[in-house]
Amino acid sequence: MSRTRCIALIAHDQKKEDMADFARHHQAKLMGWRIVATGTTGGRIKDAVPELDVTRLKSGPLGGDQQIGALISTGEVDMLVFFVDPLTPMPHDVDVKALMRLATVYDIPMALNLATADILMQTLTA
Ligand code: PGA
Repeated sequence: MSRTRCIALIAHDQKKEDMADFARHHQAKLMGWRIVATGTTGGRIKDAVPELDVTRLKSGPLGGDQQIGALISTGEVDMLVFFVDPLTPMPHDVDVKALMRLATVYDIPMALNLATADILMQTLTA
């Protein structure tokens, strides 16, 4: 029996509204996925679309990005959507880079902005 596909969703503070819009817009497709998200992002997604299956991990600056990286390394994450804010310095910049690195190492489809995430979602079957 195949497991439910898992998508990791993360958004930096200036991009959280984009993530809420993304979750609303792609609600129908996301209903078929297990979602793992960093703490605050997961809360915003749940507020936007309460029906989604969201597991909230730690907040990004407190280790949430690393938790998602670990899940990628164990094969539990199939896709990463990470709305990064390139205009604000981050205390956890090294964690952000490490996560992108692992998504690349394990060849996980990864969208870093809304335009690419929309295209990725269009490729998915419901
Ligand atoms: P947050 O973490 O969803 O808890 O805000 C995201 C991040 O800044 O990496």
